[in-house]
Amino acid sequence: MIDLRSDTVTKPTPGMREAMANAEVGDDVFGEDPTVNALEARLAALFGHEAGLFCPSGTQTNQIAINVHTRPGDEVICEDGAHIYRYEGGGTMATSGCSVKFVPADRGRFTAADVEAAINATDAAYLARTRLVVVENTNNRGGGSIWDLTEVQRIRSMCQRHGLALHLDGARIFNAMAADGRTPLEWGAPFDSISICLSKGLGAPVGSVLVGSAEFIRQARRVRKRLGGGMRQAGILAAAGMYALDHHVARLRYDHTKAKLLADALQQVHAVENVLPVQTNIVVFTLANVLRASELLGKLREEGVLGSEFGTFTVRMVTHMDLNEAEMEQAIAAVQKIGER
Ligand SMILES: *Cc1c(COP(=O)(O)O)cnc(C)c1O
Repeated sequence: MIDLRSDTVTKPTPGMREAMANAEVGDDVFGEDPTVNALEARLAALFGHEAGLFCPSGTQTNQIAINVHTRPGDEVICEDGAHIYRYEGGGTMATSGCSVKFVPADRGRFTAADVEAAINATDAAYLARTRLVVVENTNNRGGGSIWDLTEVQRIRSMCQRHGLALHLDGARIFNAMAADGRTPLEWGAPFDSISICLSKGLGAPVGSVLVGSAEFIRQARRVRKRLGGGMRQAGILAAAGMYALDHHVARLRYDHTKAKLLADALQQVHAVENVLPVQTNIVVFTLANVLRASELLGKLREEGVLGSEFGTFTVRMVTHMDLNEAEMEQAIAAVQKIGER
């Protein structure tokens, strides 16, 4: 099967497995796993933050961040496609007791002015206290769209003026940097906290790291434990993350090239009405309403190609390191074959 459902489907390479097998470990709940400590310190330093926290998933790093930044009854500002709202099991509401307010967005990206207009007046006792803004870069439902750092810097200043915290859901921040050429220090600076996934394009089997100030991470560590995320000899997993940072960052641009090839081919397919501009490794396209996404995906499966349904007529395909050129060509040929019928 040529699996374009997500960049989470990659399997650890032999080199990564070897690094995992050879990892130095200790009990991380006691803070004694040297590989976990090294990974946390490495990502924190890379993004210019004081400390890091290794967690089982990006959902957990996001939810911990929301929990530390807010109190029950507070409001979180994001856009309506945000992972923290749609794909985290209602965690923002259930785990932290927060309401969510959406701001208008262009493929997942909003402006400082739109956020500012959405902030509740602090002197109105009947309104929820606006407390946190969450940016997702790259933006998943926006088709892997990348944010403009300048606008994020404006959001930062605006948040500072209003006493709001700013969190980055950076599940695919390395894809964003592969596309925009910015450095981790540049992307790290505007945010109070960042969630970074190792299990997406970077190809690790498990793991995300949350970075922030030393005090923020101290509190985050308690919330991780409360949520059941305290792992023991987790260095086995952190070693995969270290290996990914050493070996799988520079290659992300190939995933972007593969996504662009796919998007270019899709533009020519009769049944495809619209393809969102491709900036990274995600391709989101809408079908003309003669063919439902579920029908297309069913037929593609018969051709050995998998994608995700993103709406009745919308499909998402994601490129990753376990797809070679021949497989991409095969996938493109399958879409062409079905889409032209
Ligand atoms: C995948 C993803 C996450 C984290 O998901 P997990 O599967 O819990 O690691 C967070 N945000 C975005 C935008 C994602 O795509």
